[in-house]
Amino acid sequence: MNNLKAGLYIHIPFCRRKCPYCDFFITTNRKWIDEYYRALKNELHYLKQRFNPQLLTIYFGGGTPSFFPIKNLEGILNYITKEFSIVRNAEWTVEVNPEDVNEEFIRLLSASPINRISVGVQSFNDAELSFLGRQHTSKQAIQSIESLKKIIENVSVDIIYGLPEQSNQTLLQTLQTIKQLEVPHFSAYMLTIENRTLFGVLAKHNKLSISEDLQASLFEMLIHWANDNGYVQYEISNFASSEKFYSKHNLLYWNNENVFNAGAGAHGSWTNGYGIRWRRINKRNIYIWIKAYLNNYLPPPMASFEFPLSQKEFYNESILNNLRTMWGIDIKLLRKLFPKSFISHLISATQPFIEANLLKLDNDRLFLTPQGKLYADYIASSLMLV
Ligand code: SF4
Repeated sequence: MNNLKAGLYIHIPFCRRKCPYCDFFITTNRKWIDEYYRALKNELHYLKQRFNPQLLTIYFGGGTPSFFPIKNLEGILNYITKEFSIVRNAEWTVEVNPEDVNEEFIRLLSASPINRISVGVQSFNDAELSFLGRQHTSKQAIQSIESLKKIIENVSVDIIYGLPEQSNQTLLQTLQTIKQLEVPHFSAYMLTIENRTLFGVLAKHNKLSISEDLQASLFEMLIHWANDNGYVQYEISNFASSEKFYSKHNLLYWNNENVFNAGAGAHGSWTNGYGIRWRRINKRNIYIWIKAYLNNYLPPPMASFEFPLSQKEFYNESILNNLRTMWGIDIKLLRKLFPKSFISHLISATQPFIEANLLKLDNDRLFLTPQGKLYADYIASSLMLV
């Protein structure tokens, strides 16, 4: 299987400190950096030999890619540019934390193919930043965005909302700052408490709780604000000032297209020439993943699991991904991909939600209504097959 058009996701798991809400695969141990860098190149070489994809997007996520030494980031960028076939106008994104935006980093960006930056701001309110355990201030985040915008137009900001004590005013302060800075894209994630985090431990001991009603009302406010301020909610958590700034890489996931993965803990998926959907999952263990890709004595299957999805799993994945976007679920397309019984299930499962004005059926596409967006995950799980 060669020349599949695909995205490439590269996971850089290093962070200065673990944030109390974060459930991503990360490490604060920098002793692995050199080996990680060499193993990453080996995995990229493996992907090139095995799939020889034509890259549409390249995405460095984490962790904190901007915390990876500049020379290593540069080395990976050069390796990809040299080894892979890459479409013209490919989207190259790197996730950045505000405290890493310095002269050296700006120099790297200016001399690299990176044309999109995603900044982990989370909030422009210092009390909220401190609650989230972040290491930058609001002022630092503003300065970083101003510096980045001088060299890259396509800047996105990540924010987290629905914090325990958050008010409409503080969320509004964050949103207004995004607008004032003329940031063309932002992703807004509702805070969730995950078991494997410090917040999870605090919640278990009743030291932390979040009100679902508060989160729902903040979500509604966010949607209205975006609408009134010229940002299109093209996916539940993603907003852009125009189509030009939609995240091409994330659209590959939401449209069930191909994304290959490199780095410990990274996930990828692709559809082969027979219409079978495959998943590739890298081990969330930095030691095993590094050893497997640095040495031959542990073969890659120890570090990267590959398996085909069943039709049911692929259908469920499609429902979950597609429903979140403003293009909704394309029933005509699903008819081509899945057995009739799946589509009959979908049609009958949607009826109560259509009657409750949570889903809308239009031209063979199913969309969430504004009210339905509040219950997106519940609705998606109700449309899935068990
Ligand atoms: S910086 Fe990002 S990836 Fe790292 S611990 Fe914090 S939230 Fe997680």
